[in-house]
Amino acid sequence: MFSPLIEELIRALRCLPGVGPKSAQRMAMYLLERDRDAAGLLARTLEQAVEKVGRCTQCRTLTEQERCALCASTRRDDSSLCVVETPADVLAIEQAGNYHGRYFVLHGHLSPIDGVGPADLGIDLLEQRLDREPVQELIVATNPTVEGEATAQFIAERARDRGIAVTRIAHGVPIGGELEYIDGGTLAHAFNSRTAFFSGN
Ligand SMILES: [Zn+2]
Repeated sequence: MFSPLIEELIRALRCLPGVGPKSAQRMAMYLLERDRDAAGLLARTLEQAVEKVGRCTQCRTLTEQERCALCASTRRDDSSLCVVETPADVLAIEQAGNYHGRYFVLHGHLSPIDGVGPADLGIDLLEQRLDREPVQELIVATNPTVEGEATAQFIAERARDRGIAVTRIAHGVPIGGELEYIDGGTLAHAFNSRTAFFSGN
């Protein structure tokens, strides 16, 4: 129906979450018919971002720097470290605005079925940080899903072995939900009402 290149563009757009054939077609038509400047900017920015954005060497969030702005900041509280599943979770917690400590991003959760083990989540790097940094409280903010809970348990044990207090975010987060989609007020409440997982020595 369309020329090969347009078909290819439509197929490429379908890699985005929630974009089916119809919306991909609409997007392609919009970019080609109505806004070539935006299309060019999108193409260039996407290419640059894919080439340059990697992971922060300290917290593993996405950044084009060696260390992200949150890790580089001297105004954060080194005594608390919050573990999340995705960079979007960091953003959500920052937008909620009541947490001022450090972060660690797993980029997923333990999932033996999919072959995702501790090494894939950078747990070794997390353990190095627990050994090296003055962490007094580890806040485990993985999603309240079966996999998220199992991951929380695994991480909590690593911290408990070191005598570090472990808390888990609690009320306000719906069971089976994902942090990224929760409003700031609910997330702030969940943070304030977190409960002890293991108490440190
Ligand atoms: Zn970082």
